[in-house]
Amino acid sequence: MNRPAPLVVRRPEGLYCPQGDFFIDPWRPVDRAVITHGHADHARPGHGHALCSMRGLPVLRARLGEAQSFQGLGFGQRLRLQDVWVSLHPASHVLGASQVLIESALANGHGSERWLVSGDYRVQNDPSCDAFEPVKADVFISETTFGLPIYRWPNVADEVALLLDWWQICRDEGRAAVLYTYALGKAQRLLIALLRLAPLPGTLFVHPSVARMNEAYREAGIALPELPTPPAMLSPGAMVLAPMAVQGSGWMQRQRPALAEAMVSGWMLVRGHRRRHAGVRGFVISDHADWPGLLWAIDQTQASRVVLTHGQTSSMARYLRDQGRDVDTLETEFDAQAADV
Ligand SMILES: [Zn+2]
Repeated sequence: MNRPAPLVVRRPEGLYCPQGDFFIDPWRPVDRAVITHGHADHARPGHGHALCSMRGLPVLRARLGEAQSFQGLGFGQRLRLQDVWVSLHPASHVLGASQVLIESALANGHGSERWLVSGDYRVQNDPSCDAFEPVKADVFISETTFGLPIYRWPNVADEVALLLDWWQICRDEGRAAVLYTYALGKAQRLLIALLRLAPLPGTLFVHPSVARMNEAYREAGIALPELPTPPAMLSPGAMVLAPMAVQGSGWMQRQRPALAEAMVSGWMLVRGHRRRHAGVRGFVISDHADWPGLLWAIDQTQASRVVLTHGQTSSMARYLRDQGRDVDTLETEFDAQAADV
């Protein structure tokens, strides 16, 4: 039996829906884009028109600027774009992150397929984001950033407790601390987790890029207090949440040697990544699905075909094929490690 025409294909500009004439997270400027979330490898500037979740609108405005024209769509609402219906469904990951469901809107579309594009997603629920929503589809295009069986996340509360212990030790040793984290998503998740455990060992500061994202979260209705940006010299016991990009800055040089450094990332589960950041303590908290999470999400879609994109596609594809699934892989230009620039 012939398959219906694909609802998503790859074009030089990015993933494209021919029946709806729009791109999803295109890596080049296009007329009409659906943007799943605000990380830099998915939300690139210069599109004629961009559709995103209503929840993600303040974040995307902060990221791409007022010059970009946006339309916000409530989670679960259907919007007709030419010959298809498009709806967005929470992907957790970061605030407003969406899975994109595409269905034929033609009367003779009966029997046609439902295609679901995951964007980046996380299946652990977290108070900083809307909970991940399992969505049924015939074809599921899934990210596989952490698509290896070695990736199994430890309990988040345990990692946060270890982080708090580390901060306490830094203070007792008379040092300030810098916690490297993505400015969008991870930082807000950590702030909410840490502030719940107050009183904290010392004053919490946020890098200006984190402060900007906090403001966008507040605008979207997430309760986050205004926190100060760091002074020229940190006092012992202070902790700053900052993106990795500050590591080589003059400001950082001035703080050393009375400074301890740590990084919060799923990559810190792997020794090679720890070695690359010698002297930096690692905490394993990720905003992506781990191996069991990816398999769970794929199962939830009940998809008869799975298309794997960015990340460890080959191991996951082999595993799913061994389970008797119909699996393809698709090259994309998303890069979760380089996203927080
Ligand atoms: Zn992302």
